[in-house]
Amino acid sequence: MMNDPIQEKMFAQLRDKELFEHAKSYAYAYMDSVRDRSVFPTDQAIQALSIFDEPLPKAPSDPVPVLRLLHEHGSPATAAQTGGKYFGFVNGSSVPTALAAKWLSDVWDQNAAMYVMSPIVAQLESICEKWMVELLGLPAETSAGFVSGTTTATLCGLATGRNELLKHLGWDVNADGLFGAPNLRVVLGEQAHASVFKALGLIGLGRSRVELVPVDDQGRMMASRLPKLDKDCLVIVQAGNVNSGAFDPIDEICEQARRADAWVHVDGAFGLWAAGSRNKRSLTRGIEKADSWSLDAHKTLNAPYDCGIILCKHRQALVSTMQTTASYLVSSDKRDGMHYTLDMSRRARAVELWATLKSLGQAGVEELVDRLCAHAQAFAELLQTQGFRVLNDIVFNQVLVACDTPELTQATLDNVQKSGECWCGGAVWQGEPVLRISVCSWGTTRADVESSVAAFVRARNKAMASGGVSRP
Ligand SMILES: *Cc1c(COP(=O)(O)O)cnc(C)c1O
Repeated sequence: MMNDPIQEKMFAQLRDKELFEHAKSYAYAYMDSVRDRSVFPTDQAIQALSIFDEPLPKAPSDPVPVLRLLHEHGSPATAAQTGGKYFGFVNGSSVPTALAAKWLSDVWDQNAAMYVMSPIVAQLESICEKWMVELLGLPAETSAGFVSGTTTATLCGLATGRNELLKHLGWDVNADGLFGAPNLRVVLGEQAHASVFKALGLIGLGRSRVELVPVDDQGRMMASRLPKLDKDCLVIVQAGNVNSGAFDPIDEICEQARRADAWVHVDGAFGLWAAGSRNKRSLTRGIEKADSWSLDAHKTLNAPYDCGIILCKHRQALVSTMQTTASYLVSSDKRDGMHYTLDMSRRARAVELWATLKSLGQAGVEELVDRLCAHAQAFAELLQTQGFRVLNDIVFNQVLVACDTPELTQATLDNVQKSGECWCGGAVWQGEPVLRISVCSWGTTRADVESSVAAFVRARNKAMASGGVSRP
């Protein structure tokens, strides 16, 4: 009997590999040009995206033209995040071994939910759990769940903390929900990340029903201003302020929390990786005293997207919050990843995390962290030499820069973003607009920093020349 014609074509595509050869050559062309192209897509590239505006295709398309369309019109409209001169948000890049491992595991197309679905992925999740705990210096019993990013990881950590605190107050949230539950207090810094408030809203504790702790001029929680903690407190601290890179006084806060039996969650999206470097570890002093931690391997560690991790000292607490049971689900004495995360079906992101950690090793992680920090320091120094004002202490990879007036800062930022020579975002820091630089890619070199500083200077000159904004 003949196979269905569409199915037959797909078998042929797998057999003759032409499609995949095209994918490979497009990918190579991208890699070879990404350091030299416009860092943000040109207006022309963005306008050309209208080619994707078409009705839902009625009939199948030939695969090679599909891929060509994606490369010819898609590739130029990407932000060149892997080119070394992208400093927006806190966006990392991909170390080559991890990228290659992702290609291979894409072909595997494993579902990471359970051991029986993929013994190799279950194994690599277990290994990554162990390695992460050692690298970051966390308690040996800490367990890990592999999720899309820190937003989800924080949601998992805070939900677990909520359940555990209420359990100790005699209430089972899993069974009985929150209506009628004992009161919980949420304590966090005024500059906690937006995703933390989102998670608090989602888990029924409320975005606004919180006790905000004042912060200092770097955005660090002031431990001396912490309210009196108790066993009904969910405390959230930050390892790495998303703007300044500053770290909360984690040790002091954890000590107070420990005496009170409060739960401490650390949002360490990019900053927790400081613990992987002997030179930066002191920033994270006391993290091992917390109860749960969230971080992103797709930021400082430079694993491909998306790769977040929830770590929790209390394995049973995490599992009892996240687990799912049904008769068709075959749990085993091996690792079933879905019991540590929100998701059931998940992509096998631990493969890339494993490949990143394996290829870098502890020494490579340390070197990466130190290099990102050194480049941030160089950015700050060179920009200062050029008359820019640096508004934060450079403790990690973040640099906040301003010109002489808010108008000039804003116009300079616009020009930097349009220049194509590098890209950074903006933010408001202590009431004034800033250019916000995050050095987060392994591919950034000293020369990239220097040429980007030169681009900043040109952008400011252009802003001054175009009138309207002038130096006072
Ligand atoms: C990036 C970031 C988040 C959110 O992480 P996602 O991976 O984007 O969900 C949370 N907190 C901090 C401090 C961050 O830098």
